[in-house]
Amino acid sequence: MNLPFAEPYKIKMVESLHRSSREERERWIREAKYNLFNLRSSQVFIDLLTDSGTGAMSDKQWSEMMLGDESYAGASSYFKLKEAINDITGFPHFLPTHQGRAAENVLFSVMVKEGDIVPGNAHFDTTKGHIEFRRAHAVDCTIDEAYDISLDHPFKGNVDLEKLERVLLGNPRERIPMIILTVTCNTSGGQPVSLRNIREVKAMADRFGIPLIFDAARFAENAWFIRKREEEFADWSIRDIVREMFRHGDAMTMSSKKDAIVNMGGFIGIRDIDLYRRASTYNILFEGYVTYGGMSGRDMNALARGLYEGTEYDYLEARVGQVARLGKKLRDHGVPVQYPFGGHAIFVDARRFLTRVPQEEYIAQKLAVELFLEGGVRGVEIGTLLADRDPATGKDRFPPLELVRLTIPRRVYTDNHMDYVAAALCNVWDRRDSITRGFRILYEAPILRHFTVELEPAG
Ligand SMILES: *Cc1c(COP(=O)(O)O)cnc(C)c1O
Repeated sequence: MNLPFAEPYKIKMVESLHRSSREERERWIREAKYNLFNLRSSQVFIDLLTDSGTGAMSDKQWSEMMLGDESYAGASSYFKLKEAINDITGFPHFLPTHQGRAAENVLFSVMVKEGDIVPGNAHFDTTKGHIEFRRAHAVDCTIDEAYDISLDHPFKGNVDLEKLERVLLGNPRERIPMIILTVTCNTSGGQPVSLRNIREVKAMADRFGIPLIFDAARFAENAWFIRKREEEFADWSIRDIVREMFRHGDAMTMSSKKDAIVNMGGFIGIRDIDLYRRASTYNILFEGYVTYGGMSGRDMNALARGLYEGTEYDYLEARVGQVARLGKKLRDHGVPVQYPFGGHAIFVDARRFLTRVPQEEYIAQKLAVELFLEGGVRGVEIGTLLADRDPATGKDRFPPLELVRLTIPRRVYTDNHMDYVAAALCNVWDRRDSITRGFRILYEAPILRHFTVELEPAG
């Protein structure tokens, strides 16, 4: 018989989980005002809120922690990380930051000013936030196929070159400080960008004399998809694909909490020494001196090691494969999920799931709460609560999709856990017709309300 897939690692340390009862969960979620962010992690059996900073470090990363050099300037940990970043990404210069949004803050402080236009594939929330905070505008140039969640397309993170060209032709060159490519595209569901698209975007950027910046949080998962789906790269190593991707960039911002498998950290990779020098000033101001910028020496050591582990073929096969196995289980049962599956999460289409719950009663939140009640699984709403109210009318903004995201931490849960998640959600699916009412808001903050909102059952 064919040998089945098995993870290329074994477990050295375990953390106990509490398997709660339905009665406990009903009480906890009521006390949490039906907001999953208000739960204590000890009340959650399987936590799929995010893959950010929730990964499991390896024995080698933990041993690197012991070797950290905490010198203020010129620590060996800095040079170890610099070498790893240069080796993996090809960028000759780098600045450490405390996480990804801090890298954006530093780089955009140099590059983005009021009135600027920053085109790219669907910008991540914090990226867009840092652009808009500077009174500049992010323009989404993702291909239309990305927003049809059941359409089979191998690279739903791709930039539509016609949309991009329209932005570049329609605005003065000096108003466009950069083009941002997010790999994989988190906002479109962890969907990859092809190398062909990267090359075409770079060619267009060069034609207009505009820098190309990578938002690189999940660059290794992106390289995995390139290898699997783009024939030219079928026998390339992941690291060669990663170098080929980044060769086209002028800089990269990184949230190390994702593909570098550490719990905190980030960095900026930079090609040009002059840009590096200008960004250094802001790094010192906001993050810390250029040889530690927001990170301790031991954390830089673990990150250096994580960059190598996160770009191993066997690891990525297990990681992206685990997400896909969960997706397939749900799809086979008829649960409406985004397809193809993303690299880090499965997105459940709540509107097609809970067809009887009225739109104004927060359909995706209702589904996320039902999944918690069913099995103690915490997903996250990406729907009307997240979309906030229209500041002009004060009315709810209904986004095109009501989604529940099941985000898989790296190297943390086994396939048994994923089978449990699938079974819990399939059980909710089987009783979906009995779910007819959602929630009413008791309290909400004026912006970013989803973190602190308080709800009560409608009806
Ligand atoms: C997480 C993320 C960020 C921000 O990084 P933090 O480490 O959370 O600050 C930026 N871009 C993308 C695509 C991300 O996924």
